[in-house]
Amino acid sequence: MTKSRTVAFIYAHPDDETFGCSYLIRQIADEGNKPILFTATRGDAGKTGHLGAMTREELATKRDVELAKAVDILGISVMEQAGMGDGKLKEVAPAVLQQQIADFLRRHEADVVVTFPEDGISGHSDHIVIHHAVNEVVFGGQAPSVQKLYYNQMGSFASDISSVIWIEENGKWEVKRRALEVHESQILSIERVFGKLGPDVPPQHRVEAFELAWEHGVHFPKRVETSIFDHLK
Ligand SMILES: [Zn+2]
Repeated sequence: MTKSRTVAFIYAHPDDETFGCSYLIRQIADEGNKPILFTATRGDAGKTGHLGAMTREELATKRDVELAKAVDILGISVMEQAGMGDGKLKEVAPAVLQQQIADFLRRHEADVVVTFPEDGISGHSDHIVIHHAVNEVVFGGQAPSVQKLYYNQMGSFASDISSVIWIEENGKWEVKRRALEVHESQILSIERVFGKLGPDVPPQHRVEAFELAWEHGVHFPKRVETSIFDHLK
């Protein structure tokens, strides 16, 4: 590859990146490109797993440490958090959230963006708010360097009306498992989705799916793609 590309992952909480995108993020880094991460909140309203009661500030600090470890394991180059209210993104003025996202994408000259699909994967209201904010920023041309937008769908996702690229586990489960493990405070939701973490890849988590939502001004273009970097200018 001649030019190093920047792929921005725009999410709501620490751990969203690990749940849906570990294989893709690690692959981007391994190929010499730059995965970067923006999370709107510090996840301070979440559960604490087996760690017992914590104040919001204690949990925020704990989750900062967890995310820093995951960032390291996944090979993320840049990570920024907006520190907005966890569970309360609906209450943030849309223009304010969009401005933060647009600034992040512009500052790092992101080529490709990955975010939640319309249902937020889990239906979490913060995830859905992020989905719409990223759409507004990208579709509205607020981040002119962006050439493609993908929605991070569940691994088995397929569609007749859109292009989907699947990233195979291909030896990367170990990386994903370690990144999941460091999100220690979130172990209950991790086990609900992935089961008890061990050396074997859970069968339903052998691939991650990314739906091409927008490319160079075209919504849901039908493409045959081998990489998220195909067709970049
Ligand atoms: Zn989340």
